[in-house]
Amino acid sequence: MGWALRKEENMGWVLREQESTGWVLRQQENMGWALRKEENMGWALRKEENMGWVLRQQENMGWALRKEENMGWVLREQESTGWALREQENMGWALRQQESTGWGLRQQQWLLDCARMKAAGIQKLPFLLLQKMVISRKVLVGSLVCLGAVAAVIWAAAGSGKVHYLPYYLPCPEIFSTKLQYTQEKPIQLFPQLFYLQPRVLAPKRRDVLTVTPWLAPIVWEGTFDPELLDSAYRPLNLTIGVTAFAVGKYTRFVRRFLDSAEQHFLRGYRVNYYIFTDSPQSIPRPQLQPGRSLVTVPVQGYPSWQEISMRRMEAINRHVAEESQGRVRYLFCLDIDMVFHNPWGPETLGDMVAAIHPGYFDVPREQFPYERRSSSAAFIPEGEGDFYYGGAVFGGLVEKVYEFTKMCHMTILADKANGIMAVWQEESHLNRHFLSHKPSKLLSPEYIWDDRKPKPPQIHLVRFSTVNKNYKEVRN
Ligand code: UDP
Repeated sequence: MGWALRKEENMGWVLREQESTGWVLRQQENMGWALRKEENMGWALRKEENMGWVLRQQENMGWALRKEENMGWVLREQESTGWALREQENMGWALRQQESTGWGLRQQQWLLDCARMKAAGIQKLPFLLLQKMVISRKVLVGSLVCLGAVAAVIWAAAGSGKVHYLPYYLPCPEIFSTKLQYTQEKPIQLFPQLFYLQPRVLAPKRRDVLTVTPWLAPIVWEGTFDPELLDSAYRPLNLTIGVTAFAVGKYTRFVRRFLDSAEQHFLRGYRVNYYIFTDSPQSIPRPQLQPGRSLVTVPVQGYPSWQEISMRRMEAINRHVAEESQGRVRYLFCLDIDMVFHNPWGPETLGDMVAAIHPGYFDVPREQFPYERRSSSAAFIPEGEGDFYYGGAVFGGLVEKVYEFTKMCHMTILADKANGIMAVWQEESHLNRHFLSHKPSKLLSPEYIWDDRKPKPPQIHLVRFSTVNKNYKEVRN
């Protein structure tokens, strides 16, 4: 509960918050001062033997501020992002990005002066500045005493409250008192704060359902994720997500409800491009969309049978990705149009290749899955095989993965056609065959592909997307 500053035996001074929040500032024997957060939080400021001070984030986060031998101070990001702030010998400070991105701020004239004076034997940067400003030694000593007193008062006050950042105790005052700026500088938030419940290894959020597949793909259920945490990770990426839906023939009647509910619940706050494939663009409604969201109609031809319309979606999506959506969207979801969003569908659904567990078969043995069982079909799955039964009404993923997926399904559909056979559940059978040997990287629980005609079991805490009750005979005719 809060901070404590104490001198501990064999430890020197220690300023710590309780373990749950993880800050520790301590002077360790033979080690100098160390300000660190716990390992799973990822950064540490410490003085290491033979290394001088090191302020670093974990390797996958990529930045480090360190004093290196023969190099002076270096603040750098990993090579991929390419910037570095360093003090080079006889050169002054340089803040630069790598050559490919083209900008750099080198030492300013006064720093050049400093370097020259340094070369003449005056070592410390602050003394150089003072010399330039012609401040007497008495004034200097007086100021330092005052500063010390102020720091002591702050230290005492901080001891009673919560302190997260102590810039004046950082061991490199040259850097933190030197303001270097370049024109497009964005404020760097070194340690963004996020408050959320600690994940507990021994207390899983859902015990009643499978939350990860045997190949370690997550299965997304209400309660297994923190929407705010995911938003904070995905929003800065400024993603555009595409949605394809087909409204051919009488299915144009479902477009308005689909779009209105999507505007309420589908990836709210993200940029979304709706691609409505239709044989009658003039009958597609144009509802008011949130900023950053757009609606494009894609003309497609109608086919005499509903099975053909349904199956041809793979071909049309594949062509559309190649010609249009690739390059415009990062992720693409392919959804049935005769469905409605009832609850939030957020970035928890984003993944390389995403499939949805069919609401009719999530609790039956695989022998009862309605896979294509005729070995003459390219969608054939023999008895004793299969993981889940996936619905054809929802799939998605990275746009390039959706391209590969739709191409494969279209090819197996064509192979069946050449052999005069149509799989039992058309493209859904081919989708299931594909996902058996190309496992999806993320699975959506039936919350994301529900059927309102079914009673809601206790495992379904909320329905996010579900079919509209329709008169099959009437709409398919
Ligand atoms: N579809 C269409 N026109 C048709 C038949 C199907 O636009 O005449 C599209 C529509 O997007 C629909 C999807 O294909 O949501 C799947 O068809 P349907 O809903 O009839 O199949 P179900 O999921 O009910 O088996």
